[in-house]
Amino acid sequence: MEKTSPSRSGIPLHVQILLGIVLGAVIGLGAAQLAGGPEFVRTWIKPVGLIFVKLLKLIAVPLIFVSLTKGISDLKDVSALSRMGLRTIMWYMITTVFAVLLGLFLVNAFNPGAAVSPETIAGLSENIPAGVGDKLDLGNQSRNAGLLDFFVRMVPDNLFAALSDNGRLLQVIFFTLLFSVCLLMIPAREQEPIKRLVDALNAVMLKMVDLIIKLSPVAVVALIAALFAETSDAGIIKALISYAAVLLLGMAILLLLYPLVVRGMTGMPIMTFVRGILPAQLVAFSTSSSMATLPVTMECLEENLEVENEVVSFVCPVGATINMDATSLMQAIAAVFVCQVLGHDLVLGDQLIIVLTATLASIGAAAAPSAGIVMLVIVLESVGFPPDQLPLALAMILAVDRPLDMCRTVVNISGDSCVSVLVEDALKKAKMIS
Ligand code: ASP
Repeated sequence: MEKTSPSRSGIPLHVQILLGIVLGAVIGLGAAQLAGGPEFVRTWIKPVGLIFVKLLKLIAVPLIFVSLTKGISDLKDVSALSRMGLRTIMWYMITTVFAVLLGLFLVNAFNPGAAVSPETIAGLSENIPAGVGDKLDLGNQSRNAGLLDFFVRMVPDNLFAALSDNGRLLQVIFFTLLFSVCLLMIPAREQEPIKRLVDALNAVMLKMVDLIIKLSPVAVVALIAALFAETSDAGIIKALISYAAVLLLGMAILLLLYPLVVRGMTGMPIMTFVRGILPAQLVAFSTSSSMATLPVTMECLEENLEVENEVVSFVCPVGATINMDATSLMQAIAAVFVCQVLGHDLVLGDQLIIVLTATLASIGAAAAPSAGIVMLVIVLESVGFPPDQLPLALAMILAVDRPLDMCRTVVNISGDSCVSVLVEDALKKAKMIS
């Protein structure tokens, strides 16, 4: 398979996508100024982006099944898988809890809530956007579930139902793990035909990923143009800039730390890591979905950073669903921020509860646009936030969420990539993989 960057045209893929983002912004901003412009973008340009996102999501489930089965069946034995699993979960927990603590530190240090004027709050309380009710309902559904519900939901009772719903990625991973572990446990002679089939299917899937990624520069123009043509609320963004700035600062710190940790633990040069995952970061920025970006993240790690397939195919899909560092960072900052704005005092105990619920919430959040907002309901309720003020709190965060969601997704997939490199290095040092 050819490298993700540079492409055959000679211009590296990440440069093409970057140009796409700029061109999309110019088209979108231009269209927003013209009568009928946004309508034109919605009808004739946006569909190209939507098709791209659908294609990425279309291949995510078969890619996970084939690639994870191949990865595990290439492992020496089941104990290699359990070591990989333990290390992956350990790193995911460490990075998530670190992100929440970082968020709490920043939001307490900068106190962004003090910068929001009472007029902004009054304006928002008068116009609670329509989407807020849906997000509240979804949040309440998740909150009413028990703690162990996460594990209950992870086990599918019908494989085809799981395969047919992108929101049940964890169930697909569960089945695939069970399937591949059992494959490793049967005699080698019986494993052979399945392994050959899986190898061939894997080659087909990788070809599909290659073809779809070629569309990304054009698709990004469409996605960003639609975003700029349809977004208008610059006034509220300015009012909530203090919250956005603290969140962006936290995300910048995480983005800086990943290559440093990779360099410190594995010796991989900082720029190699940064350049290697750039195409995936740009696709994450344009789609706001870790799940849609998954095929690109996997390809970047395997092709650009030469991380073994058996590691990537396990660590990335699991990470896309349970490891969202920027989402947990956002939970902490947003929860304390709305409490600051609405004068709801938080004691130390409340902040500790935020650490716990924000960590669990980011594990439970879907790898999809705005998923973080839904989970915020749970975090806020856990610290006794008045239910009647919840719509206002969500409206505030939602007003500036779209650009922040794009950045969060970049950080989320970067965290998964960082852990993939760390886990591979640890397994190589332990001689669990060659
Ligand atoms: N959009 C994010 C992702 O897919 C989730 C979120 O923070 O809303 O990674």
